[in-house]
Amino acid sequence: MPESPFQLTDEQRRIVQFAGSSLVVAGGAGSGKTTALAARYGWLVAEAGVEPEAILALSDSGAAAERLRSLVEERISRGFAELPISTVSDFAARLLREEMAQSGLDPFVATLSGADRLAMLIERVDDLDLREHDFAGRPIKLLASLIAQIDAQKAMLISADQCAQRAEAADGAGAALGREFAALYASHEAMLAEQGALDQGDLIFGALSLLERPDVRQRFSARYSQLLVDDAQRLSHAELTLVLAVAAQLGQVTAAADGDCAPASELSGGASNLTAIAAQHNGQRIDLTRSLRCGAQIVLAGEAVLEQRLSPPLRGEPGGTVRGWRCSGERAQAQAIAGEIEQLIQAGSEAESIAVVVSSLQSEGRAIAAALDERAVPHQLGASEQLFSRGEVKDVLAWLRLLTNPADASATVRALARAPIELRAVDLARCVQIARRRKLDMVSALHSATESPQIPPEARERIVAFLKLQRQAAAAIDELRPDRFVHRLIDRLGLRRQQLFAAQADVVEGLRCLARFEALAGRFAERAAQSSGREFAEYVVAVADAGLRESDASAGAEQLPRAKVAVVEAGSTRGLSFDHVFVAGMERQRSVDDEQRELSYLAITRAAESVTLSYSERGQRGEQQLPSQLAEAALAAAGAQWEERGEELFGPDEALHGAFNELRDELLGDLPRVAGTFAELRLDNDLDLTLGVVRYLELAKLAAVIGRPAEQDVESALAQANAVLLQSATAVQREALESSPLDELILSAEDDARARSAATARRGEPSLEAFLPRRGEGLVLSASDIETYRACPLRYKFARVFRIPQEPTMNQRFGILFHQVLERYHQSDGRSVDELLALLEEGWRRGGFGDSDQERQLHAKAEHALRLYQQRTANEESRPVWFEKSFQFKLGEHTLRGRVDRVDLLPGGGYELIDYKTGKPRTAAELEEDIQLSLYAVAAREAWQVDSELQSYHYVLDDEKIPLPAAEIDRDWISEVVNEVANAISSQGFEPTPSVTACGYCDFRIACPAAEL
Ligand code: SF4
Repeated sequence: MPESPFQLTDEQRRIVQFAGSSLVVAGGAGSGKTTALAARYGWLVAEAGVEPEAILALSDSGAAAERLRSLVEERISRGFAELPISTVSDFAARLLREEMAQSGLDPFVATLSGADRLAMLIERVDDLDLREHDFAGRPIKLLASLIAQIDAQKAMLISADQCAQRAEAADGAGAALGREFAALYASHEAMLAEQGALDQGDLIFGALSLLERPDVRQRFSARYSQLLVDDAQRLSHAELTLVLAVAAQLGQVTAAADGDCAPASELSGGASNLTAIAAQHNGQRIDLTRSLRCGAQIVLAGEAVLEQRLSPPLRGEPGGTVRGWRCSGERAQAQAIAGEIEQLIQAGSEAESIAVVVSSLQSEGRAIAAALDERAVPHQLGASEQLFSRGEVKDVLAWLRLLTNPADASATVRALARAPIELRAVDLARCVQIARRRKLDMVSALHSATESPQIPPEARERIVAFLKLQRQAAAAIDELRPDRFVHRLIDRLGLRRQQLFAAQADVVEGLRCLARFEALAGRFAERAAQSSGREFAEYVVAVADAGLRESDASAGAEQLPRAKVAVVEAGSTRGLSFDHVFVAGMERQRSVDDEQRELSYLAITRAAESVTLSYSERGQRGEQQLPSQLAEAALAAAGAQWEERGEELFGPDEALHGAFNELRDELLGDLPRVAGTFAELRLDNDLDLTLGVVRYLELAKLAAVIGRPAEQDVESALAQANAVLLQSATAVQREALESSPLDELILSAEDDARARSAATARRGEPSLEAFLPRRGEGLVLSASDIETYRACPLRYKFARVFRIPQEPTMNQRFGILFHQVLERYHQSDGRSVDELLALLEEGWRRGGFGDSDQERQLHAKAEHALRLYQQRTANEESRPVWFEKSFQFKLGEHTLRGRVDRVDLLPGGGYELIDYKTGKPRTAAELEEDIQLSLYAVAAREAWQVDSELQSYHYVLDDEKIPLPAAEIDRDWISEVVNEVANAISSQGFEPTPSVTACGYCDFRIACPAAEL
């Protein structure tokens, strides 16, 4: 194995010094393809006398092009103007610029990103005819997916006209959808033309047509003489066509591809791209057969997950460790990985040489990050392009949202809860209560709150400060350019200042993220010269809501940061290399596709020294899970066995480190707030200061216990620290110290998140007890309350304790209307479909539904569903007897209440409980842990003294009825769940449990700190 990047293997040397015209290089992960290409670039300059600017080097992504550029720059010792190393579309843009006169382009033409085009479609959504495409209640998501489809067409070199011709020729199912898409594609192109703009796909179309002109080709050949292509397997059909056109012109091409990690996809030809390049000039091929990165065992494991090989097997140097961990749960998995990483770092590994590859950043990634936090291991969750999920950026977004839509209660709640306002949770709950009771938007409710006797003076001051800021920002948003407005808003909110007080490790990242957000506003202002802050706000909020990333809105995502363990998804690791890789979440899927194989291969082969594959034996709801087929194959190939990893109780020091970090961050983060109170002449200024000083004393106590001599136990170290602190503290500080739950945490020294959050919770936060749904000693709960809490306790707090008002979405209003139509139909003893449809029309009009594409689509769905419903009920032998029947009963000290949509009397005399659903059907397996129908069955017995034989969900839009097996009805289980949830709510346990499923549909993401990275 070569020891320096300048040392080459024999195979690489043959590539570098290749004297023919066309060469293709195939090799697996870590075989040194990019290094060989960079060395060839250097050799062509140094030995073959080619000008550096005459070697065109192309890759599929900005990150890959940058990696190649930095390797090339290391190898060129002479000066140069600019190396033409870029992505294929950047090269196309450059060619269009260089040949501006021939391309006929407007010199000021703008290239719009995916996000810009989304904003363009949102603005003109009323002009689009979308009846066939399913909005599924999320129009922005639909538009974003249509833009992705247009990009896919362009990547296949299919123009809008060709798309329309194909759609016209098609028939059968989906033809109407195809025609509608073709019309949208044409409208999209017309809108771009109106704005004098292009998108990325147009750049390639434009470059290809330029290269058809003899004069352009002549100038092109005079400018460039060599073409190098890296990662050719990832080029789309359009990119490959342009590469082939350039190669045909220059005649000198060297292309490299990973033949193993290259399944063909809708967008890229995979390994066949290499064959196309080789065929063009009858090129030679060199296979790189040694992995220069991975030890032999890792190579074997990586290759075992591939279905078919397109190049000869790779050989690795002897060594490399492959392990498999069967973890008892997701937490055990996170702990095992974090513990191992801590040991690696203690043994001398650099944090940046370690990566944890997760299948989802939101769920698994977050669990790993929490475990790393507890051990104070520096890490970053996700690549830095997750800008819109960063806490400080979400603070700015929340303000932009509330300024453009004062009815956005979630955004206002976030702005109130965060610096510089920091309204206490209990006062927030009071303000939300005022908004709800008086039916006001949050900003108007805050005006009323300043006069309400319920709001204490200190909270009133904070609300006044919020309203002042809101007034100033609302006045400036239409006056200032986007970049100036955002800059000023960040300054007024003091976000940069707060960063300076934050924990050291986060400072740079936080400041960089704010700078990137400002840069985004700057680029928006450049593109739309006359725009104001409001237009940028609407644009960026739509981009963030559509789930697009900053890289969709701007050029060039950033690289992973240094000096931190990377917790990333496999797709973000392309081209990267680590010493140690942990691949978490290798649970079995129903089937394995090419993409999963590619991602597993990618993840495993990032490791030089060790790779650990792990899976959790139990899912989030306790269900049994098996290891993935790919992990089994990888372990078998490397001769490794599964090792058991259970949930470890933390040792005292790990829990203490975690608490120390949280307290330290809170203390530093609180500094600007406490300092800010000095100028306010408030009566309780000294309280804030005292609590801050006590926090410092607690930190000192924790530091003393953590740093105790090896022979001393925790208890005596704590007693010693307390003796010193209590002696030197003032009477008030002593009182605060003595009432702190920190000592309890230190002594129990177990890793209980709730214990730690109690110990580190901000002092002086009053209880939310008054806002809990109490009745007597117990709580009042519905099935949906229980489900909300079980999905995420914090969501429950936002929805049921704060009761943050949410404007019902169109789909929610539709669901309510559908229920009403069915209820009225049965109550009036309706029999015919005409009666049902007449009720729909009546409800539609009264419900304020309009005539947009989305509404017309819902209307058509409703009509269809009602016809099916009528047919089904006409044929059923059972007889509906009750509709919207309510219940209330006691389970222990708690009151359960709710309403059953329909109860049928079965022919045999029993009853069936039916709940209508207007969402997508869930399978019986997915309903295993479902509580709603089981609770209804218990309710029927307790409240109506009726034993139900059957309980079913009726998915009315799909006319599907899913019965819940009677065996699932278990009163003890229901009572256990109810007690568990009620106790947790009573003790105000509202820790978030983020997951892709829960957060994906959560209305409170902007207010939620856990949805941040
Ligand atoms: S965004 Fe996710 S973690 Fe946050 S409240 Fe919603 S569901 Fe819970």
